[in-house]
Amino acid sequence: MSAPITEPGTVAGTEPGADPASPLPRAAGLALDLTGRTALVTGAAGGIGRACALRLAAAGARVRAVDRAAEGLETLAEEARGLPGGLDARLLDLTDLDAAEAAAAGTDILVNNAGIQLVRPIEEFPPDVFHTVLTVMLEAPFRLIRGALPHMYGQGWGRIVNLSSVHGLRASAFKSAYVAAKHGLEGLSKTAALEGAPHGVTSNCVNPGYVRTPLVEKQIADQAAAHGIPEERVLAEVLLKDSALKRLIEPEEVAEAVLYLCSPQASFITGTSLTLDGGWTAH
Ligand code: NAD
Repeated sequence: MSAPITEPGTVAGTEPGADPASPLPRAAGLALDLTGRTALVTGAAGGIGRACALRLAAAGARVRAVDRAAEGLETLAEEARGLPGGLDARLLDLTDLDAAEAAAAGTDILVNNAGIQLVRPIEEFPPDVFHTVLTVMLEAPFRLIRGALPHMYGQGWGRIVNLSSVHGLRASAFKSAYVAAKHGLEGLSKTAALEGAPHGVTSNCVNPGYVRTPLVEKQIADQAAAHGIPEERVLAEVLLKDSALKRLIEPEEVAEAVLYLCSPQASFITGTSLTLDGGWTAH
């Protein structure tokens, strides 16, 4: 049964003051609005991070965009000009863990997005690269969360979104460091959810399949070599082999899911992993 309409555009029970205990905005069905919030997005110079930074700023958040890539940050700052929330771009290399933790202080929303990938069999995987992948994709998110929580706890509200992957839930051959880091991130995210719940802080993962970004484009040659097939067969036979939907997902589609998890409307969603995988994990 649908709720009775009391006046145009107002559903009974959602008018201002209907339920002071409700964490929802005054009228349900409104746009996702982050006006007045600050949001830190890591790895914002390209790919998914760029799309998230632009989407959050468009929704009204003041975005702190950090990356180690100066050129991409400059382009992003240009693109964000005129968006309601505004955007500050800042160089930050996440392997500097103390700087990462300090950068997260005072933010209401944290999007742990930066990532790197190397495709090699374990016996050929350089140990120093394994270490760097774990530092950027697991230890830095821990330090960023650690830096963000005091402010979030102090105000009784916060949102943490961790860019995980299908590889946080499933393994693929030749991606030992990436799969290990993403599985670790899933555990970190769930722990932050449990600890943050009494303080109004949610923590969730977003788990895309293959997204049309430089990270994936760079992988195609590596995958061809590792699997011994030509590059033009990699998309269909390797990357999208287990996906029911046979296309790459766009960064902007991932950013919509991230925005939703950052919104007031998502206050009861925590400790979960939202797959955008075209049916991959339905197998
Ligand atoms: P991308 O390579 O396009 O962008 C990653 C960004 O992280 C780059 O701008 C890079 O400069 C930055 N970065 C890397 N190391 C850094 C460091 N030490 N300090 C600061 N910044 C650093 O990658 P993407 O595809 O947009 O991936 C973003 C996130 O989404 C990653 O965590 C990735 O694992 C995840 N993801 C990507 C896909 C995909 O198919 N592209 C799928 C699932 C999950």
